[in-house]
Amino acid sequence: MLLPKFDFYEPKTSEEACNIINEYGLKAKPIAGGTDLLVNMKHKLLSPAALVSLSEIAEFNKLEISDNAVKIGSCFTIFDIAESAKIEKKLSALCAGARALGTPLIRNLATIGGNLGSARPAADIPPSLIAYNAKAVLKSASGERTVLLDKFFKGPGFTEMQPNEILTEIIIDIPNERYGAGYINLGVRKAQDCNIVNAASFISLDDSNGVIHSARIVMGCVGPTHLRANLAEDILIGNKPSEKLLEQAAKSAEAECKPIDDFRGSATYKKAMIGVLTKRTLDIAVKEASLR
Ligand SMILES: Cc1cc2nc3c(=O)[nH]c(=O)nc-3n(C[C@H](O)[C@H](O)[C@H](O)COP(=O)(O)OP(=O)(O)OC[C@H]3O[C@@H](n4cnc5c(N)ncnc54)[C@H](O)[C@@H]3O)c2cc1C
Repeated sequence: MLLPKFDFYEPKTSEEACNIINEYGLKAKPIAGGTDLLVNMKHKLLSPAALVSLSEIAEFNKLEISDNAVKIGSCFTIFDIAESAKIEKKLSALCAGARALGTPLIRNLATIGGNLGSARPAADIPPSLIAYNAKAVLKSASGERTVLLDKFFKGPGFTEMQPNEILTEIIIDIPNERYGAGYINLGVRKAQDCNIVNAASFISLDDSNGVIHSARIVMGCVGPTHLRANLAEDILIGNKPSEKLLEQAAKSAEAECKPIDDFRGSATYKKAMIGVLTKRTLDIAVKEASLR
C-alpha cells in the first residue's frame, strides 16, 4: 500500500507549525508518531495535501513536574510515559494506560497528543486523563485556549480541536489532598489488540475525616466517546470507602454505560465487565489514596 503524495514540513517552533497549517486551511494535518495517521492515509481514508511534523518542536517534547501540576508536551511518547518513575509517582493510572497501549514498537513512536487527536473510543490514554481532570492546551495562529479533556471528545474521530489548532500540552493539576487512581483495559489478547472495554477511576479523600471528597469514573468502548459514570460518582462522594460502597458504585457504572453488540463482544458482556473493571479500579484508587 503506497501513501498518497503530500508536502512535508518539519517546523522547529509551534508558531511556525500553526502558520503552515493556517496557510493550508483544511488541507494540512499535524503528524506526531504517525502510527494512526499514516495507517489511515495508506488505507486512503485521508489524503491531506500537507503533513506538518511536530516532532522537532522542543516544547512539545517536554515534561514538567512540580508539587502542583504535571505538564506533558503533546509529542511525549507513550514509551516515555510508561517508563517514567516521576510520572508513575503522581499519575500511576496514566502509566498503566501507557503500558497497555500496543506493542513496544508502537509505544516508541506513538505520542500522548496523537492518542488524544485520533479520538478513538477504545483508546488507552483518555480514560485516566479524564479521571485526573486533565486539560488540553490548543494553539492556533490566532491564539491559545485550554479545554477540559472531559469536554474534548465529540465522537469517534472528532474532537473539540479545530482544523487550524494544534494540541501543545496536557496539564494535570495535582490535588492537595490524598488521591489515587486506577486504569484497567480488557482485550481478547494481552497486546496488539483493540480493547473490549476499559475503565479508569479516581478518588480523593478528605484529610479531616477520610470520606471521599471527589470521584471520577470513566468508561471506554461503551459509547461514541468515553463516558463518565455520574450516578456512581455521586454514590461515592461524601462517604467513607468500604467494600460495600465500592461494589454499589460499580453496579451503578454497569447500569449507566451504553455499549452495543459488535465483533468485540455482546452489550451484556461489556456491561458486566464495566462493573468488574470499575470495582477493581476503585480498589486500586482507594489503596493508593490511603498509602499516599
Ligand atoms: C498496530 C497498532 C496497535 C495500536 N494499539 C493501540 C492500543 O493498544 N491502544 C491505543 O489507544 N491505540 C493504539 N493504536 C493507535 C495509535 O498508535 C495511538 O492512538 C497513538 O497514540 C497515536 O499517536 P501518534 O503520535 O502516532 O499519532 P499520529 O498518527 O501522528 O496522529 C493521530 C491523529 O492525531 C492528530 N495529531 C497528532 N498529534 C497532534 C497534535 N499535537 N495536535 C493536533 N493533532 C494531532 C493527527 O493529525 C492525526 O489525526 C495502535 C496503532 C497501531 C498501528
